[in-house]
Amino acid sequence: MLTDGVPLVRIAHLPTPIERLERLTALLGGPELWVKRDDQTGLATGGNKTRKLEFLAADALAQGADTLVTCGAAQSNHARQTAAAAAHLGLGCTLVLRRPVGGSPSPRAPSGNLLLDRLLGAEIIWAEDDPLEQSLHAVAESQRRAGKNPYVVPYGGSNEIGICGYVAAMEELLAQAAAAGIDFGHVVLASSSGGTQAGLALGARALGSETHVLGISVEPRSEELRPLLARLASATAERLGLEMTFTEDDFSVDDGYLGGGYGVIGELEREAVRTVARTEGLLLDPVYTGRAFGGLLDLIRPGRFRKSDQVLFWHTGGVAALLTQGEALLDAPVGG
Ligand SMILES: *Cc1c(COP(=O)(O)O)cnc(C)c1O
Repeated sequence: MLTDGVPLVRIAHLPTPIERLERLTALLGGPELWVKRDDQTGLATGGNKTRKLEFLAADALAQGADTLVTCGAAQSNHARQTAAAAAHLGLGCTLVLRRPVGGSPSPRAPSGNLLLDRLLGAEIIWAEDDPLEQSLHAVAESQRRAGKNPYVVPYGGSNEIGICGYVAAMEELLAQAAAAGIDFGHVVLASSSGGTQAGLALGARALGSETHVLGISVEPRSEELRPLLARLASATAERLGLEMTFTEDDFSVDDGYLGGGYGVIGELEREAVRTVARTEGLLLDPVYTGRAFGGLLDLIRPGRFRKSDQVLFWHTGGVAALLTQGEALLDAPVGG
């Protein structure tokens, strides 16, 4: 394994399955669609941060940390998975969260990830206007002054430690594909803080795979995300002792689906969530995988892929956030 020698704690349910989306493939008339079920990695409803946390938590334990501290949006999947990892390992957890735009996150009736954060025992601190990461470091500093030993998990778990999880994940996928006699020409995923895409692309290159990794951006523009991916992948390669550097030209990002902004659900997301649910019985989330799958469906229509291509959608999780959206996702009101 490329990540041999990097300490990790086994938390995730691995390998996650790959499954063929037969009915959806037939509905669209190709390409041959598959899904990688990283929505089933474990940690209180799963998702892509679990693989990163296996490496980050090992680093925290090695440093004698007593608390994991991280940051994110109010409905952050990363925050919820960090809270679950902390509980699982007997550590404290503090989450620095951004208040949702336009009001209170309704503290009396938390739902989705926020409900799970509270159930998992995390302390929640609402960040005011600072950049989130500044608040995160200020919180960790005040915990240090109070005699605690916090470990700061970066935004999205995306640094050269967390990314090892997705280098190993590409190795896992290539072994599954080889065993099944499949050659995925394309891997498509939702990309945001960049760690998942950086790890997958690094893994593919280090293993000599021709698989093309396409990130559908959920948040930043391509001109911001691609240089970030290059920095993250280069730092991770160095950490793994691989003689490799990356430039932004090594990464494919499509930022054509940013819609109304982060977490704003439009027709693209609604249609993707409904189509995949009704055709396959598979749940996407409205913020990340709904947007990315909507982008994939949109790219399939004009024939970006050949009918014979084998395309794998990497399901990165997020289903807890789905349950906060109520009727916004339905085409007609319930009972209407
Ligand atoms: C965090 C997250 C992503 C984005 O992964 P990055 O590594 O931050 O780019 C995609 N999907 C879901 C459900 C997520 O929670």
